[in-house]
Amino acid sequence: MIDTSLDTTAWCKALIAAVEPYYSEHGRAGLHEPWINGNEWQYVKECLDTAWVSTAGKYVDTFGEELAKFTGAKHAVPVVNGTAALHAALLVSGVEENHEVLSPTLTFVATTNAISYTGAIPHFVDSAENHPNIDAKKLANYLENNTHQYQQQCINSVTGRVISALMVVHIFGDACDMAALTTICKQHNLKLIEDAAEGLGTYFGDRHVGNFGTVSALSFNGNKIMTTGGGGAVLTNDDEIATKLRHITTTAKMAHPWEYFHDEVGYNYRMPNLNAALGCAQLEQMPNVLTRKKALHQRYLAETAPLSGGQILQASAGTTSNHWLNTVLLDKGSDKNRALEALNAVNIQSRPVWQLMHTLPMFNHTPCMDLSCAENLAERLINIPSSAFL
Ligand SMILES: *Cc1c(COP(=O)(O)O)cnc(C)c1O
Repeated sequence: MIDTSLDTTAWCKALIAAVEPYYSEHGRAGLHEPWINGNEWQYVKECLDTAWVSTAGKYVDTFGEELAKFTGAKHAVPVVNGTAALHAALLVSGVEENHEVLSPTLTFVATTNAISYTGAIPHFVDSAENHPNIDAKKLANYLENNTHQYQQQCINSVTGRVISALMVVHIFGDACDMAALTTICKQHNLKLIEDAAEGLGTYFGDRHVGNFGTVSALSFNGNKIMTTGGGGAVLTNDDEIATKLRHITTTAKMAHPWEYFHDEVGYNYRMPNLNAALGCAQLEQMPNVLTRKKALHQRYLAETAPLSGGQILQASAGTTSNHWLNTVLLDKGSDKNRALEALNAVNIQSRPVWQLMHTLPMFNHTPCMDLSCAENLAERLINIPSSAFL
């Protein structure tokens, strides 16, 4: 067999060259670390000085408004984390117990967990051949052959269950083919939900991701492109859904100066003011962060272009990536572990992509289409250091 393994020595050198001078000063490069470089101290201090640290305070509303402006969404509802954002997004989309929700097997576990929280069953979808994002053509073909319509609902012809939604994920900050996926959802009566946890600052055409479906979710976990410590947000362009979102994420409490009346089972998902203060400062830095992320991506591309054994993953034409996590796609037949060992040995913090969802014990009996592309990619993808300050 031909050895197509990554020449790790050459790749390590190229990756180090791309992150000089940071690497030579610190002797390492982390995968993705927060960059605190703006008004973070000032805004957080103000919360502490005034004791407005929790679920009331001006920063929560300001953060929601600024997020809406940044993403072009009509409403942004800040919540405690991205997983809670996904859960709330599914609830307001009418996803119910025993429905199925189509979503990729190649994603972070939070996507699939959130589907399970509603009592719905994940139904796994394959990636494209050379990119972890959903293969829209393959999905369209699959739905054509394995589902039918009954009373304007999409029915899984094998299980007989309603498939109520498609949850797409913009993996590593690269936009999915939202034109094709939007069409598929219309044709098959599926609600479209975007897991845009990794996609703040990512565009399909000139529209920010998270604006294509009914609702979408963002995450501001510590390893995302910007952070609130922990946090997330739900985006929507629908006034009624926004009202519903605000209601169910604040314990479904009816507005009243002193009475505690709740008209349904709600959730305590509202983002605290402290986190929102951090978020306001981080969001101010996003244009600068995006410029730096793009420059780093281009340095990686330039340094590794002459090398064989793998290539830096690139977003599709007509999209603008936020370049959240730079990723090497190793050639077929490569030894991923050898590459990971070599990179981590010189403190280039690198890691494989997540274990595929359909291989995890709690999800290995759920419906799925052929997942051969995701299986193939999972063997070959490595994330490399991508912090904005590199
Ligand atoms: C980070 C992430 C989430 C979850 O966000 P948390 O804020 O960590 O709960 C969901 N989906 C994807 C694809 C993510 O990367």
